Amino acid sequence: MAKESLGYVELEWTCPFCNTRNKGRAKVCANCGAPQPKDVQFHQAAEDKIITDQEGLEMAQSGPDIHCPFCGTRNPGDAVKCSRCGGDLTEGEKRESGQVLGAQQTKPAPDIVCEYCSTPNPATNTKCKNCGSPLGVAVKPKPAAPAAAPAKMSPAIMIIGAIVLLAICGAIAFFFMRGAQTETNTARVNDVNWKRSIVVLGLAPVTYSTWADQLPQDAQVNYCSERERGRSAFPTDNSQQICGTPYLVDQGSGFGEMVQDCEYIVYDDYCEYSVVELQPVGVIDETGRDMNPLWPETRLQQDQQLGERNEVYQITFEVEGEEVVYQTTSLNEFLQFQPGSEWQLEINGFGNIVGIEPAP
Ligand SMILES: [Zn+2]
Ligand SMILES: [Zn+2]
Ligand SMILES: [Zn+2]
Repeated sequence: MAKESLGYVELEWTCPFCNTRNKGRAKVCANCGAPQPKDVQFHQAAEDKIITDQEGLEMAQSGPDIHCPFCGTRNPGDAVKCSRCGGDLTEGEKRESGQVLGAQQTKPAPDIVCEYCSTPNPATNTKCKNCGSPLGVAVKPKPAAPAAAPAKMSPAIMIIGAIVLLAICGAIAFFFMRGAQTETNTARVNDVNWKRSIVVLGLAPVTYSTWADQLPQDAQVNYCSERERGRSAFPTDNSQQICGTPYLVDQGSGFGEMVQDCEYIVYDDYCEYSVVELQPVGVIDETGRDMNPLWPETRLQQDQQLGERNEVYQITFEVEGEEVVYQTTSLNEFLQFQPGSEWQLEINGFGNIVGIEPAP
């Protein structure tokens, strides 16, 4: 993300001796005359006005203040000697800077209530319009984090939950027991049938989508439309800038820089297109009720090819007067089950064949 500057805003500092709000550039308190102490923080003023005066702009950009290590006087960041005592400032400590002071204020700040006479005053006032008392910085109440209510389960829900759990366990146990219970029966092959199929592949258009610059050479473009392809820190041929809420960054000079984080949405053409590809166009099959399975006869048209082959064999056993069907895809297995032959079948609780042995 790229940072964009919207300009500089004059901050305020509150005198710790008399609680008067002073302009960011003021070196001494306008009310009591005390010099600004080093440890006083700058804060956002009642209004975020972008400054245009030359003096202010120079101060804003001269870097974090240096408080004289000898006499404590506030000096601009680019000063080499103290304006008051002439002391060398090269060893002086620069004021902290770079903290985010808050989002840009788009609405007028709420009134400040005088703590002496309770009169509401416009936030831009520094003195109470009724009693003349200094109006310090309005302490913004921090929104209390909503306390997460501990999740409590009602007893009824717990009982229902336990019953459901028990029922599920019971069902699973029953399922396994049924599956595990097997019975061995003598069976006779009553009927056989087979089905063999071959997929036919042919050339036909298939639809895909991609970016305009990634279209294959032989693509037949159906339509294109613009959509977001990505984000960029810089503008491109077809991009749109989007910026976050501006916020104020302390410059340590009594001024804040109003900045916003911006990036560009890059748009591009995304297209639906068709290409002619070999793909399944049909299935041909052959079935029978004998022991001589055949592959279907194929008559291919020009550009057609044969695809996947499938074979399925079914054997119908007669077990104590009832029919049980067994299915396999193995021709060798199928060929063992001559109609009329006898077998020992292991059948589970669901009526499925789980084992086949030749009858003794
Ligand atoms: Zn003061
Ligand atoms: Zn000094
Ligand atoms: Zn008052």
